[in-house]
Amino acid sequence: MELRVLALYPDQMNIYADRGNILFLQRRCEWRGIRFSHATTGPGESVDPGAHDFFYLGGGQDRDQRAVAADMVATKRSALASAVDDGAVLLAVCGGYQLLGHSYQLDAERLPGLGLVDLETVREEGSRLIGNVAIEVEMDGEKQVLAGFENHGGRTYLGDGSIPLGRVLSGFGNNGQDGLEGVRRGNLIGTYLHGPLLPKNAWLADRLIALAIERRTGSLPRLEPLDDRLEEAAHESARRAAFSG
Ligand code: GLN
Repeated sequence: MELRVLALYPDQMNIYADRGNILFLQRRCEWRGIRFSHATTGPGESVDPGAHDFFYLGGGQDRDQRAVAADMVATKRSALASAVDDGAVLLAVCGGYQLLGHSYQLDAERLPGLGLVDLETVREEGSRLIGNVAIEVEMDGEKQVLAGFENHGGRTYLGDGSIPLGRVLSGFGNNGQDGLEGVRRGNLIGTYLHGPLLPKNAWLADRLIALAIERRTGSLPRLEPLDDRLEEAAHESARRAAFSG
């Protein structure tokens, strides 16, 4: 078994130690004897949709998003669309999540998005949405909690047919109004949760590792359980922080 990860624009899109997500994937694979390969891609480079099974796009400030948005649409959009349609995992966090939709509108400026999901992000009047957050996610018929930290000025609105990743239990989520958080389409996930997200939510990391391996091998692997006492403590602490306001 092998997990083949491609990090998109890691030099620009890596706010709040989102690199920790990649490191966490690497460790969980290595601890189980699963091979891990990690490549990166930046401005001007094209992407081979068949060469990676897990695509990762981290968060970024408006200026970082400005630096990558048009380039990503021009050089990577069609490869990412075909990888996602073919069952690859795409995980995008915060600024990366915003760029999965049609656009990110900042006053008169409109940053183009990949258009992989029907959603829009708008920088509106009002303060940034900042704080600890917990959401309820239903996956494989089971309800699970994701806990993390959010900090965004943009508000995201899902189109009618789009499916949120989860329901906000505590915090702001997509826009602070409709109680929804993130987006999901097949194995594509967009979310505002930093933390980094995966070390605080090991169950999601394992789920995504398994789905990415399934895309490569055609069968969903059963991952060996690990000693997750530290990961469980990190999850509990993020969850407590979210519920204590
Ligand atoms: N620049 C975006 C915003 O403020 C995303 C920020 C982030 O990735 N934390 O809305």
